[in-house]
Amino acid sequence: MRLYNSLSGTEEDFIPVKPNQISMYVCGPTVYNYIHIGNARPVVFFDVVKRYFTYLGYQVTYVSNITDVDDKIIEEAKKIHIDEKTLTETFTEAFKQDSLRLGSDLPDLMPKATNYIADMIFYINDLIEKGYAYHSGDTVYFRVQKIGSYGQLSKQVLENLNVGARIDVAQEKEAPFDFTLWKSTSEGISFDSPWGKGRPGWHTECAVMNHTIFNHKIDIHGGGSDLKFPHHENEVAQSCAHDNHELANFWMHVGRLNFGDTKMSKSLGNIILVKDLLDSYEYQSFRLLLLSHHYRQPINYTDDLMKQFDNEWQRIKRAMKQAFLDISVEKYQTIEMNEQALEQFRVHMDDDFNIANALSVIYDQLKAMNRSKEVKETARLYHTISLMLHLLGIKMDLMPLSEEQIDKYRAWQQARAEKRYTDADKIRMELVETGVL
Ligand SMILES: [Zn+2]
Repeated sequence: MRLYNSLSGTEEDFIPVKPNQISMYVCGPTVYNYIHIGNARPVVFFDVVKRYFTYLGYQVTYVSNITDVDDKIIEEAKKIHIDEKTLTETFTEAFKQDSLRLGSDLPDLMPKATNYIADMIFYINDLIEKGYAYHSGDTVYFRVQKIGSYGQLSKQVLENLNVGARIDVAQEKEAPFDFTLWKSTSEGISFDSPWGKGRPGWHTECAVMNHTIFNHKIDIHGGGSDLKFPHHENEVAQSCAHDNHELANFWMHVGRLNFGDTKMSKSLGNIILVKDLLDSYEYQSFRLLLLSHHYRQPINYTDDLMKQFDNEWQRIKRAMKQAFLDISVEKYQTIEMNEQALEQFRVHMDDDFNIANALSVIYDQLKAMNRSKEVKETARLYHTISLMLHLLGIKMDLMPLSEEQIDKYRAWQQARAEKRYTDADKIRMELVETGVL
């Protein structure tokens, strides 16, 4: 398995920290509104990562956090006149529903930041004691300059950051790029700390939840590419200071999904919510769209592109349904796989999750299945394709047929063969109504 590592900037052989186990942490949402289709990309991609590693025999622990304390949450709660807890609970639930509707399994653990405040205070205290953080004014800052390797993930040098950073005179920072670990404030939800009532910084939330949950260097830290800087860079910095390692062996970043060639944003009014998209399209169509692009490349989403992948999915579904019918009618029950095709599929998946190429193996098998005249061959290809689609989180959801349905299907075929078209049409209608066709 070769994986591109954002930290080293190269593809590397994947070797897990602990044999046969994989620890993976992916930055989750800040829960104050519904997620849009750009937010869905990591939700789908890292679900595939877990599915595939599990298929290879690894025991995967997939953690994705819920940020339930943040300035945006406080603002939104004020705006719509509800308390922050109600707001975050509502949208945590909405996020879970959207994830499931996207065909993704929920992560093994979805820790909420507010459940780890005591750990964060402890962690920040450690950083102060080690000289990596300082309390100034109403804020605890991280002393970035103490990390010689700072900028290694986002490939930036401190001097350049220095030029770009705006210095706010109200802040009592030692350096402009020092970031907040704890902010004292009485506004909104706040917690007691040695530095007064306040809230943790976002970068500290993820670093501490990682540290507390796994307590060792993990295998994969993932998220959207827009999180690389400053969020992930600052997670790396804290972990280097606190634990002397970069938090994760592999840093994986998923490219952005743009609306056409512009960024999807609230101010431009071009946001498509996941829940709205999935009212119009089946999740499988959208998963196909996402997974047909290399995960590190951006996607320029358009309605036409969505329709194109919806057609693609309908084609796959029809072929699979027909094969399933043929197999059911013949009562063919042996489950065999095309091992050669599976091997090809794995070669592409092992090549830094080249899912687009893995999909081409599926399309080749579909073509062969459509041409197949023998039920044994049809079944072999059907089961192979089903497994590969399953690994991409694309399910067929076909119900086993009853004897009655099989008899009816045979009667339809016979009527057609005997050119009794009125009968055939009548039976066909019944088959469509009961979902057989
Ligand atoms: Zn994070």
